[in-house]
Amino acid sequence: MKKSAAALLLCLGLTACSPIEDGAVPAGGDIETALSVQTEDTSVSGTSFTEISEDSKMPETSEETTISETETTLAEETTASQTEIETSEITDETTISEKLPESITLSTYSVELTVGGKKMPVVTMLPEDCSDKSEIWESDDTSVATVDGLGNITGISEGSCTVTVKAAANPEVTAEVKVTVTAVPQTHGEPTYIDGILIVNKTYALPADYAPGVQPEAEAAFKEMQSAAWSEGLNIWIASGYRSYEYQSGLYERYVKRSGKAEADRYSARPGHSEHQTGLAFDLNSIDDSFADTAEGKWVAEHCHEYGFIIRYPKGAEDITGYIYEPWHIRYLGKETAEKVHNSGLTLEEYLGITSVYSE
Ligand SMILES: [Zn+2]
Repeated sequence: MKKSAAALLLCLGLTACSPIEDGAVPAGGDIETALSVQTEDTSVSGTSFTEISEDSKMPETSEETTISETETTLAEETTASQTEIETSEITDETTISEKLPESITLSTYSVELTVGGKKMPVVTMLPEDCSDKSEIWESDDTSVATVDGLGNITGISEGSCTVTVKAAANPEVTAEVKVTVTAVPQTHGEPTYIDGILIVNKTYALPADYAPGVQPEAEAAFKEMQSAAWSEGLNIWIASGYRSYEYQSGLYERYVKRSGKAEADRYSARPGHSEHQTGLAFDLNSIDDSFADTAEGKWVAEHCHEYGFIIRYPKGAEDITGYIYEPWHIRYLGKETAEKVHNSGLTLEEYLGITSVYSE
């Protein structure tokens, strides 16, 4: 209850996502009422915000890597012990492998980042059953890019360098990544495209006069997705679509008055920084965490990439995207790109190696 009330509170303030903004939902008065009822009910306060953020601040990528390595090890051990039970002859041969790593392959050998951006190549160490898959990472120029023990490469300043990964158990086995770090592009005057993708977040703003309205291609893709969902008995609709710079401006001011600038920045986009200004972002159905658990929410999470959309602010990625989990907010990228980003399992920021932070 506490959490959903907090979610409501957050949603009312959301950047990008408040239903108030579009006027798609009842007038402010209704929402204020709903808010105050919830607040009395559950004593929602700043603390709730903190709790939610803490939840979602997990460095998910690292955690996942660690867990999957552990799972692999466990699986191997289980197989080994089952073999021992089945045939004692084989046991001697299969006793804990002493095989050394023989090769390392990477998901990518060249990485482009902006200053502050991060990327992590995925390592495959062979043979599969080698005894120790620990990695040692090094950058030959930490003034250009640093790398941590898991292979997260971070751009520090403009330039090029080489990041090397070694097999700890056999340091002769290595692989290299060429790293190029470029400056964060200036965002004044023009929208920013990176790898052909229009990017709007806390680092990259849109000019005030960028006012394209809803993009027809995105709207057509949404309708296609909506029909597909409908044929499975599910009803999805756009609760909030295109929003202008001016609209966001007024909204942000209100939130600053209400909570102060520092707090407002946690849940409301500054004018020019809302992805809704691109005309390529939609909020679906109920703008609330509970959307994720509805049949519609699950279907969208599973299928939206097939229609050219991604869930733009996934769970546990607040430190990367700059926003809390928003299961309802989808961004149109086109089918090909959406498929690639979806399959990478990365946020758009990670996929492009860029940041999402205000410069001041
Ligand atoms: Zn949104």
